[in-house]
Amino acid sequence: MENIAKTLIIGGGPAGYTAAIYAARANLSPVLYEGIQPGGQLTQTTDVENFPGYPNGIGGFEMMEDIKNQALRFEADIRNGEVTKVDFSKRPFMVEIDGKEQIFAETIIIATGASAKYLGLEDEKKYNGKGVSACATCDGFFYRKKRVAVVGGGDTACEEAIYLAGLAQKVYLIVRKPFLRASKIMQERVFTTENIEVLFEHQTLGLFGESKVEGANLVFRKGEADEKNVQINIDGFFLAIGHHPNSEVFKPFIKTNEEGYIITEPFSQKTNIEGVFAAGDVADPHYRQAVTAAASGCKAAIDAERFLKNRS
Ligand code: NDP
Repeated sequence: MENIAKTLIIGGGPAGYTAAIYAARANLSPVLYEGIQPGGQLTQTTDVENFPGYPNGIGGFEMMEDIKNQALRFEADIRNGEVTKVDFSKRPFMVEIDGKEQIFAETIIIATGASAKYLGLEDEKKYNGKGVSACATCDGFFYRKKRVAVVGGGDTACEEAIYLAGLAQKVYLIVRKPFLRASKIMQERVFTTENIEVLFEHQTLGLFGESKVEGANLVFRKGEADEKNVQINIDGFFLAIGHHPNSEVFKPFIKTNEEGYIITEPFSQKTNIEGVFAAGDVADPHYRQAVTAAASGCKAAIDAERFLKNRS
């Protein structure tokens, strides 16, 4: 059988590219497929100011180019293409690209990331990068002393609202139900934070603003007798209604939790199949930071190298 990679990395975000750097330097000649969003979620953010090594911050897109170029410097084979099917039932593992080509590999690193859920409003696209964000930790800093809204009633939304409340002048938490779904302790924190106002039973109809977000149009108790439209003035609109881990294609073989996050063994990036590793947001429901994704990519490459060494 020709075309067998020692290590095939699926996903071009900080986890995938970092895995490629380490795998390439360990002489594993890694092949990496970038998928439909080369660079991953970070290419959607403006400036990244919390990744070590960039004291003045850096554009998300530029940073991903830097990490990718670092992998290319060590001759990682980076290709375009989406994984449409896998067969991990026999070795070498098979990965199908774009429904056509089949690639075989002795080890696989899954680093396909996660995608934030959006409400599906046209205005979310219109103001993307102009006040709309799905990551308070990434973008909150730009809203110091400003007014922002967070959508969602779960732990993420509460956490983001509390984080933003430490920076912004005012935070609205837009919740579609008459209660929060978040844990009691998070609810308590939200209710005792003075500059957070919870707007229960509110849904977002749209955003407005000349060249960036200046406000949101909401509806209170939609469909009820006392339904009314409400307008809030805000500079930032944060989505916190959950993430989808991009693990669908692997599910026939790889164990995930009920939300679809790939389960890895403690203290390693190993999945339930020997020789298949997972790194970054697809296996991380908790931290979801560029630096933690990069670190787990490093660990996955080291795990792959050790796996190959122990077999030979
Ligand atoms: P969740 O699924 O728990 O919550 C999503 C929230 O978004 C819900 O309030 C939901 O409303 C709301 N929502 C979903 N779709 C829409 C929509 N179209 N319009 C308006 N609102 C919408 O996701 P999280 O990301 O908050 O949490 C995911 C998991 O991670 C949970 O298990 C959580 O406990 C955990 N987590 C734990 C943390 C911690 O322990 N520190 C921190 C962050 C997350 P509704 O309630 O009406 O369905």
